[in-house]
Amino acid sequence: MAKILLTGGAGYIGSHVLNLLGLDGSHEITILDNLSTGRKESVLFGELIIENLENTDAIDKLFKEKNFDACLHFAGSIVVPESVSNPIKYYDNNTKNTYELLKICHKYGVNNFIFSSTAAVYGNTPDGICSEETAATPLNPYGKTKYMTEWMLEDFSHAYPDFNYVIFRYFNVAGANIDLKIGQCTPDATHLIKIAAQTIVGKREKMAIFGDDYNTPDGTCIRDYIHVDDLAQAHVDGLNYLLKGGKSTRLNCGYGHGYSVKEVIATMKKVSGIDFKVEMAPRRDGDAEKLISKALKIRDVIGWVPKYDDLETICKTALEWEKKI
Ligand code: UDP
Repeated sequence: MAKILLTGGAGYIGSHVLNLLGLDGSHEITILDNLSTGRKESVLFGELIIENLENTDAIDKLFKEKNFDACLHFAGSIVVPESVSNPIKYYDNNTKNTYELLKICHKYGVNNFIFSSTAAVYGNTPDGICSEETAATPLNPYGKTKYMTEWMLEDFSHAYPDFNYVIFRYFNVAGANIDLKIGQCTPDATHLIKIAAQTIVGKREKMAIFGDDYNTPDGTCIRDYIHVDDLAQAHVDGLNYLLKGGKSTRLNCGYGHGYSVKEVIATMKKVSGIDFKVEMAPRRDGDAEKLISKALKIRDVIGWVPKYDDLETICKTALEWEKKI
């Protein structure tokens, strides 16, 4: 039985990974979360420790006690526009705290590390289709802070050969657990599908499309939306890969095809049957025009097989969850 630490395990993605790991039943799981955006009710398995990552004395003590075999690091800040207006928060939460965590992992010989990175590291690429080898040119502090952590992981792995990581570069994660046990509860959410769901259930009067003058077929930005349970499964596969001695690797996590903002809104209208109010607004700071994953490496390296590659399923589960909470 492996001893696993999930930082940020009470949050949107962490809680979905926790659910799969818990159902599997073969690990002893500790969740470290300060509940700033996560919530206790999403922690369906394991032992929850409520603590700030920046409290390094407490984290050190926890590592000393628990003797972890692997760390899955979800804790961090994820909102692109907020990172533009408040970069200090992002360099603290995403870069500095991760650096401290990595030092503690090194000190206690925790040599299997899974990191939540983002497609935002790519920025605007020539054709918007990104392989793991595409040059990273992040456009905003969110992407930059995540990319800095990728560098730290590469340097650690190079210097300390027993240390191995899987970096997952998430494309646009959305939807809710297929059994609707958990979903996205993030306060003040900014993500497109969540905002549309909130508009449908009446939590918002209307929503906006940020820019329709991009160089795309309908003028709105294109993203590769991936169902949160598929992303969670990728983490389980990545963990098994590392625990069996897999070497450090960086993997895109997306389906390999994209939808525009207008297509997503049309799908939300279709699955809900509600013609909710949508306004045009100017471009949002820091948005890349098109981000689509080249999605083959993840299947080859860790054997990931997605089950919910369907925009309607993503939209429906997001909506059903929004009705529930
Ligand atoms: N978007 C939008 N209206 C919203 C929220 C998002 O038009 O209320 C657009 C956003 O400008 C981007 C796309 O939807 O082009 C995806 O944004 P999101 O915040 O969901 O994810 P990101 O790609 O920024 O991580």
